[in-house]
Amino acid sequence: MRVDTKSRIAKRMHGIRGEAAFEMLARATELERQGRNIIHLEIGEPDFDTPEPVVRAGIDWLQKGATHYSPVAGVWELRTAIAQHLSAQHSQRIDPKNVIVTPGAKMMIFSIIQAVVDPGDEVICPDPAYPAYDAAIRMAGATPVPVKLEEAKQFRFDFDELARQITSRTKIIVINSPQNPTGGVLTGDDLKKIADLARKHDLLILSDEIYSEIYYADRPASILDVPGVLDRVLFVNGFSKIYAMTGWRLGYGVVPEDTFSAIELFVNNSVSSTATFTQRAALEAFNAKTAEASRKMVAEFRKRRDVFADGLNKIPGITCLKPLGAFYLFPNISRTGLPSDDFANRLLDKAGVAALPGTAFGEYGEGYLRLSFANSLANIEAALERIRSFVSKL
Ligand code: PLP
Repeated sequence: MRVDTKSRIAKRMHGIRGEAAFEMLARATELERQGRNIIHLEIGEPDFDTPEPVVRAGIDWLQKGATHYSPVAGVWELRTAIAQHLSAQHSQRIDPKNVIVTPGAKMMIFSIIQAVVDPGDEVICPDPAYPAYDAAIRMAGATPVPVKLEEAKQFRFDFDELARQITSRTKIIVINSPQNPTGGVLTGDDLKKIADLARKHDLLILSDEIYSEIYYADRPASILDVPGVLDRVLFVNGFSKIYAMTGWRLGYGVVPEDTFSAIELFVNNSVSSTATFTQRAALEAFNAKTAEASRKMVAEFRKRRDVFADGLNKIPGITCLKPLGAFYLFPNISRTGLPSDDFANRLLDKAGVAALPGTAFGEYGEGYLRLSFANSLANIEAALERIRSFVSKL
């Protein structure tokens, strides 16, 4: 019997794309099974281990019986510690009552969008951008409206273009700084302009700052430092990147009081709550020893960024800005003449380097590649050699 699979799948799932990193990882792993040597530059996670105090606390809390449901919005002690951490870093006091914990920042993004966006609404997103925004918006029946991030502006917004895209249907402006995939960072002035637009048009701002503590110049500006806009800010952050805790699945949000119950209700009805022992262990993420481990990791990322970007800039046909934050390079490969998709596929097949095409992050990613530098210097040097040789044969 032939089954019409399409009719069995909900319409809202048609055209939804997953994270290309997971697909590329599966292809690369298959090639490894066939005996090929692959350098992995596709995945967006630190190659460091979770700091020891957090791991030890996780084991302790399991043994102490932290194995039951947690309150939906998270363990109060963790919500308080998150609020204290943010209040110490920023000029405004964050109230633990506005903090909500989810299994990963991605779930926070999804929960926020599902709770505040209606079918027919428009949500402005940077392009290229982390693809989960687009997917979450489409699954809510809303329309993602891309605004191009220009390399000529160090991958920041053109504010005339951003203002032009606002309509009576716009509900949220999504921002992400430091940014995946470009490593671009919005300035304090950029954030003020975004806040002004949000006030003028009565919009919300979803500010994803998951890379806020992985930066290579001045500390990135945060929407939490912009006065008079907190009542419109849906702030997203998490433990995955800065504490090398991707597999723990732990993210959080700070949301305005009038949106909190709806977001909490979505979490209640989807995942019930976040694992209890992971939340208890995450309290150790804010101690001095863990902060030291994070600082060392970022110092190592900086070395790799410099070696990798300098090396790429010596390859004819490739130019690469040095990212100001996160751990990705976003080199311009347009002068090689190969479209991004072909470049990434052929680079994997012929040279054994797994990278992501810029188009995995939106149509304006054409002409670019995303390379993670969360890999050893030795592998980065080897990847540079393979890319150099691959490009020379085009
Ligand atoms: N936001 C951005 C910009 C990301 O790059 C990622 C992960 O790649 C996430 C959110 C999701 O992080 P988590 O692992 O906490 O779900």
